[in-house]
Amino acid sequence: MIPLIKSYIPPPEVLMPQLQAILYSGYIAQGEKVSEFESKLSNLIGNPFCVSLNSGTAALHLALLLIGVGNGDEVISTALTAEPTNTTIALTGAKVVFADIDYSTGLISPDSIESRITSRTKAIMLVHYAGMVCDMNSINAISEKNKIPVIEDAAHALLSKYKGKYIGCNSAFTCFSFQAIKHITTVDGGALFVRNEEDYSRAKKLRWFGIDKAVPRMANNITEAGYKYHMNNVNATIGLVQLDYLAENVLKYIENGHYFDDHLQDVGGVTLIPYYEDTEPSYWLYTIKVQNRDAFISLLADNGINASPLHLRNDNHSVFASDQTLPALDKFYEEYVHIPCGWWLTDADKLKIISVIKKGW
Ligand SMILES: *Cc1c(COP(=O)(O)O)cnc(C)c1O
Repeated sequence: MIPLIKSYIPPPEVLMPQLQAILYSGYIAQGEKVSEFESKLSNLIGNPFCVSLNSGTAALHLALLLIGVGNGDEVISTALTAEPTNTTIALTGAKVVFADIDYSTGLISPDSIESRITSRTKAIMLVHYAGMVCDMNSINAISEKNKIPVIEDAAHALLSKYKGKYIGCNSAFTCFSFQAIKHITTVDGGALFVRNEEDYSRAKKLRWFGIDKAVPRMANNITEAGYKYHMNNVNATIGLVQLDYLAENVLKYIENGHYFDDHLQDVGGVTLIPYYEDTEPSYWLYTIKVQNRDAFISLLADNGINASPLHLRNDNHSVFASDQTLPALDKFYEEYVHIPCGWWLTDADKLKIISVIKKGW
């Protein structure tokens, strides 16, 4: 079976000596390797304010806290995502207000965002779903006009681009995940990118109980209680090795994505997803809309190809119960499916995927 998702782990002869060295170094907690990982990731993304964390969920939670989201506030978000996008909002005490998606892309609709804004709206949470970048031109305009900050959940969008720059440079808050199935994995891990010194130093304190690591331990004074959200040297060591392979690996996702963009055009029963102006996806998954989805999935399965929708719409969870109607999502949710697109596809796999789909279902 050609899988839909697969963790990339660097070759053992490269990874294991470094992992062994750090495990027996006596320094397995947050230290040098974590700083090295942050600076390497910062250089890659092109934003110096990188706070590494133990999960993408921690990054989302800290972004919300930095904005000051809490009880009685509302955060506009999307229902087509992994749960942490929205459970972190609920954790702050704020209400998740679902905006609808744009039916053509599955990504959060700027018009719908605008229609959900109230005096209680504290943030706009958006998700670059499957690596496709949201309509940032429109969303940034709404954010500026209404003075509501944007949080980018970029768990699927490492090395996706907006206006030629990597995601992570644009909004006040961008959250990445290095969980098992993402573009790169540190086993578990995440990073928050911010845009100024103030958010940066506050995030670094919040990830470590509220303690300022730049001040001697005995001279510290916690002014705001924080969490235990930091990355450790072991995960950072894996991340550092992963970064050596990242460009090559993500390039494969992107090349495969372009291949499907070209070869699935004008195939009956398939609708391709257009990309917004000034955006370039990094194709964590390749998403299409199909007619008779169950038959499509069976056809691919019968031919050894795993295709599937991946996320339960979050408004189905009673913890997010709301009276918002999402008619575009209702339609999209019945039709969307992901096909494999990652580093593990061979040329033969790609040919096979195309020829099976072209057979029809
Ligand atoms: C994976 C994921 C997260 C959370 O990342 P973790 O590192 O698992 O905490 C957040 N948002 C989306 C959309 C994800 O897919």
